[in-house]
Amino acid sequence: MRNLIRKAPFWIKKPIKYLYGLMPYEKRLGRVFWDTYNFLQESQWWSKEKLEEYQMKELEKLLKHAYKNVPYYRRVFDERGLKPKDIQDFDDLKKLPYLTKDEFRDNFNNKKIISKNIKLSKLPLSHTSGTTGKPLQFYVNIDEGAKEWAFICHQWSRVGYKPGDKRIELRGSVNQKIPIFYSKPSNIIRFSPIIENKEKAKLYLKKMEEFGAQFLHGYPGAIASFALLIKQYKLNINFKLKAILFASEIIYKWEREIVENIFDCRVFSHYGCAEKTILAAECEKSQIYHCLPQYGITEFDPKTKEVIATGFINTLNPFIRYKMTDVALNPRFESCEKCKRNYYPIFDGVEGRLEDFIVTPEGFLIAPAIITHPFKDLQTIKNTQIIQQSTEKIILRVVPLEDVNKELLNKEIQFLSQELKKIIGEKIKIIPEIENEIELSLSGKFKWIISEVSRDFINDY
Ligand SMILES: [Zn+2]
Repeated sequence: MRNLIRKAPFWIKKPIKYLYGLMPYEKRLGRVFWDTYNFLQESQWWSKEKLEEYQMKELEKLLKHAYKNVPYYRRVFDERGLKPKDIQDFDDLKKLPYLTKDEFRDNFNNKKIISKNIKLSKLPLSHTSGTTGKPLQFYVNIDEGAKEWAFICHQWSRVGYKPGDKRIELRGSVNQKIPIFYSKPSNIIRFSPIIENKEKAKLYLKKMEEFGAQFLHGYPGAIASFALLIKQYKLNINFKLKAILFASEIIYKWEREIVENIFDCRVFSHYGCAEKTILAAECEKSQIYHCLPQYGITEFDPKTKEVIATGFINTLNPFIRYKMTDVALNPRFESCEKCKRNYYPIFDGVEGRLEDFIVTPEGFLIAPAIITHPFKDLQTIKNTQIIQQSTEKIILRVVPLEDVNKELLNKEIQFLSQELKKIIGEKIKIIPEIENEIELSLSGKFKWIISEVSRDFINDY
């Protein structure tokens, strides 16, 4: 249906879109969604052997396709004297090298990692959120969105979510002009994730009550700041949510505690990425993250515990043994004893730091996922870093790409400064600094945001 609408001329498109909007949500989700969703609801109880067999079949398909159609992978196989049939089990997969973000970026730019048998002009582009400071661009399959949504709904079903249930979203880009947006077809209300004062917090609570919200979904940092405000101003919550769904950010213990405490319901979180190589979530009986075996194959770097992921969903620019920069806590190849699903590996969380938060001059907390939005489509800038030295002052470090137009670069820096001010507040002073490179921390990790004030601020609560 979506394809049909996309291809139709405008005079036909408008009435179709209108009629489409009248269809019940369940129907509109489409066949790909329901096929995937129903498959997951059933296969979640499969035996370890059956799930492994499924994974190997998917891997075989992916490797054959990559070898045949994707020049980068053809070279990787050839250089090692390998053919796809030489990968017979998960151990064999280790014969292939890790794919780093930089390698992906280089091979995307010269088209070597893009499948040859597709028409690029027809495909949507996507990108990472840029919490690592360097957003990555890639193509996405047409049915990827529907599949991903089915996987997420499957995970949420563990806390009672059914597709179409009333949901509030506290996420996405900041839109101060329309802070509350109601989408009738999706049955959701989206709140702008910046809550700058008591009145806004009160308004959001009132809307949630009127709407009959069952789930609150969004950035953990934004929801935690919301909970802090409710606590600070002793606001009343006159409704009961079924669960709070955390996504898109590393989760801190204090966030979970304050949110569960204030809203008096379970926090349920999942971990995924825009590249769609790994998806993992808690279960109804534990807070341990269970990787979904139907989604891809997850490994961990034995030394650093960084996530290494092979995704089954994206075939246009496949991610095979893709090295994420996220570090898993206590990863292990066992299944969860509490729910008995054979979903593995499992891990306790993703490492995070309080220094990722920005404190506004007015004393509100801003989560990193909100800050990333203006950084997504940069043309002249290779890398950035944000250093908050006080509640009034931020250093914006910028590493330009080689040989860029100075004027364009200055325009982008100006754009970033303005957008940051929109998010953090007009009173904040942003000082741009152009650098050749950004040094890594002592532990060798790149830190995108370093706030020298947030730790004290959070601990004061
Ligand atoms: Zn479990």
